[in-house]
Amino acid sequence: DRSLSELDPEVSAAVDAELARQRDTLEMIASENFAPRAVIEAQGTVLTNKYAEGYPGRRYYGGCEHVDVVEQLAIDRAKALFGAEHANVQPHSGAQANTAVYFALLKPGDTILGLDLAHGGHLTHGMRINYSGKVLNAVSYHVRDEDGTVDYDEAEALAKEHRPKLIIAGWSAYPRQLDFARFREIADSVDALLMVDMAHFAGLVAAGLHPNPVPFADVVTTTTHKTLGGPRGGLILTKAALAKKINSAVFPGMQGGPLEHVIAAKAVALKVAAGEEFADRQRRTLSGAKLLAERLTRPDMTEVGVKVLSGGTDVHLVLVDLVNSELNGQDAEDRLHSIGITVNRNAVPNDPRPPMVTSGLRIGTPALATRGFGDEDFAEVADIIAAALKPEFDAESLRGRVRVLTEKYPLYTGL
Ligand code: PLP
Repeated sequence: DRSLSELDPEVSAAVDAELARQRDTLEMIASENFAPRAVIEAQGTVLTNKYAEGYPGRRYYGGCEHVDVVEQLAIDRAKALFGAEHANVQPHSGAQANTAVYFALLKPGDTILGLDLAHGGHLTHGMRINYSGKVLNAVSYHVRDEDGTVDYDEAEALAKEHRPKLIIAGWSAYPRQLDFARFREIADSVDALLMVDMAHFAGLVAAGLHPNPVPFADVVTTTTHKTLGGPRGGLILTKAALAKKINSAVFPGMQGGPLEHVIAAKAVALKVAAGEEFADRQRRTLSGAKLLAERLTRPDMTEVGVKVLSGGTDVHLVLVDLVNSELNGQDAEDRLHSIGITVNRNAVPNDPRPPMVTSGLRIGTPALATRGFGDEDFAEVADIIAAALKPEFDAESLRGRVRVLTEKYPLYTGL
């Protein structure tokens, strides 16, 4: 019964190094967060040993009485948190949640309508070499050139032309709230089902700071590890009428045994997400993103060719447009990395640079809000990022300012 460090020093050292990286840098990848210690503990339990094919009370294996308790807690908490009639907590990831929905509701060759990947959609919303684009006939709507917001008129026209079976509303890189009522109208006008993929903004929904898609959509999917702040994983919410179809598409359709240790961690995260501390964290997340957008739209940034897509943000991220900057997305990502800030480069709509380089950055505030950052700290982070994107940037001094912030908010002190 040896510990990890005794049994496997190589893996153990890499894990320790990753913990140090998370502690010593500012994590601003919009899809990342810091799971609470209790979530990490739940995930590292003996529940990993248990086979539990099936669903609580109807398993294909014996000895499921305790994992049944865990999975039922996760289901009940997910339903209560989002006001849903049915929840499936078994998808191993967001991509698998989406694919299970397609498997449940569509046949190969059916048409789906989703936001173009290059305009902020996700791979699973119809990208050419993803399952969704290979097996289904994927049609894409876009954001408008003028203001970077979703072109609902185009989506409606495409729906009328292509008669999709399923319309997907949701995004991986989009700085505004979606109009779910409008999507419902468009779907109803062509007898399509509506799926909302709230992977990015589920935490904001849970805190009541973003419209809840559940009343509008036939199916809502999410990841549990982004703004929601739980373990890596997926979750499907649906009306009671679709419950059976969704359940059997997840298991036995797509997956075998559920990851009950991860489901335990999901249950803990869903409990945390119902609390006031969580809501406060989501408020700081939004406020931090607004401060960053405001800082990056000042005249000194326009002068160096830095813009903010859509001119601001209503959510937990800012999309920086570097089309007119000397810096491309790759250079800007590397430069921020060199001073201890982790972000990801991101294509902007109609990006003139290649996909591996890009002309944009996606910068998110959820992880820092979890770490404890408030407005004053986010204003300092925004100033550091603004300075780093200018030609005359001073790496040494900016790295020092990052260090002050990481030391102000120690991370995982109990680990
Ligand atoms: N859906 C959206 C909107 C996402 O942004 C992502 C992840 O980036 C996913 C689904 C997929 O989640 P996962 O990486 O867990 O498969």
